Amino acid sequence: MPPQVHEPIIGLPDFKIISYQGTKTVEIMAEYVGKIQCIHCQGEKLRKKERFDRVLKHHSIGLAKSVLLIRTYKYQCRACGKYFNQRMPGIEPYQRATEPLKDEISLRHHDGQSILTVSKRLNVGQATAERYYRRYLQREFNEHKNASCPKVLGIDEKKFSKKLGYQTTLANLQKHTVYDVVLGRTESNLGKYLQRLPDRSNCRVVVMDLSETYRKLAKTYFPTALIVADRFHVVRLINHHFLKAWSHLDEAGRKNRGLMYLMRMHEWSKMKEKSRKNLARYLSENPAIKAIYDFKQELMKLILTRVYGRNQAREQIPKFLDAIRALKMSKFRSLETLGNTLEEWSEEIVRMWRFSKTNSIVEGLHRRMDEIQNRAYGMHNFGNYRIRVKAYCG
Ligand SMILES: [Zn+2]
Repeated sequence: MPPQVHEPIIGLPDFKIISYQGTKTVEIMAEYVGKIQCIHCQGEKLRKKERFDRVLKHHSIGLAKSVLLIRTYKYQCRACGKYFNQRMPGIEPYQRATEPLKDEISLRHHDGQSILTVSKRLNVGQATAERYYRRYLQREFNEHKNASCPKVLGIDEKKFSKKLGYQTTLANLQKHTVYDVVLGRTESNLGKYLQRLPDRSNCRVVVMDLSETYRKLAKTYFPTALIVADRFHVVRLINHHFLKAWSHLDEAGRKNRGLMYLMRMHEWSKMKEKSRKNLARYLSENPAIKAIYDFKQELMKLILTRVYGRNQAREQIPKFLDAIRALKMSKFRSLETLGNTLEEWSEEIVRMWRFSKTNSIVEGLHRRMDEIQNRAYGMHNFGNYRIRVKAYCG
């Protein structure tokens, strides 16, 4: 009968189990039966020298811990005459834990168990568990490092720390993942980075908030990509300017949080009957506010339309230009500013109508980055932070 190899219990290829015993900790005695080659010249003609046994902590089997006792040999190569200790897959020289155990430790911690819990449960030191995890992250990071530039790229900024300021997040909007994070948000911070980006020409669409810096960068480094305004930010910008105009008319009303919440909402979204009545009463008592409120609702509807095809977009454009004109002629400074901004970005906004991806995806990723920072008690080293972000959100 051929030896029973690739035991599923061990989870490593080419090991033969000799015996196992124990319940809380399973001791598995095993032998490597795969190919053995000289580590110097890959020669396969070998002379067995002395035997020595290695004891390795191994991954859990069910609820039990496990230990591998492996019979290994020192060999002499007949071709080159050199001596070496036998190598086996999944077991690094001089290590006292197998690679599968290191992966188990890293993944458990990655999934939320604290280092303390993991190290207690699997019987390794805290510093050791910490070291395995860092190595795991580095490996993940290296795998992602040379990934080519996403086809649909979202660019957005986020505060990193008081001392180091802002970061720029580059997201893959098709995969809902972080492509990379870069410290800074200016041309001088980002230019060099973008210059070196692999397969920049891959990028077809860049979604961004209405930031002039980002637009300039995109035009320089992604000259063939379409720039699309981010719906999420445009809505926020419109709300911001309308709330400002409102506070001009009724500062007290603007400071009423319940009322502000209702004023920000889209008219067509779900609202409690009582709230809707309250809002209607407030607006009927303040006709000037009602006028800008109604205007905002119309503008939002226009901004948020989804069109299918070029012709349908073309029909919307005159309405949009009318709205811009009206804003620019309004007697409120904030609405005038809004009109100017929308005009400067009209091309990118019109493109937005035909495009479904938004940077609300990035906003979700930013929340996860905050969690990473909090878990590490405010992370101050951007390099370490970047490795973690890519491992968790990449
Ligand atoms: Zn050799």
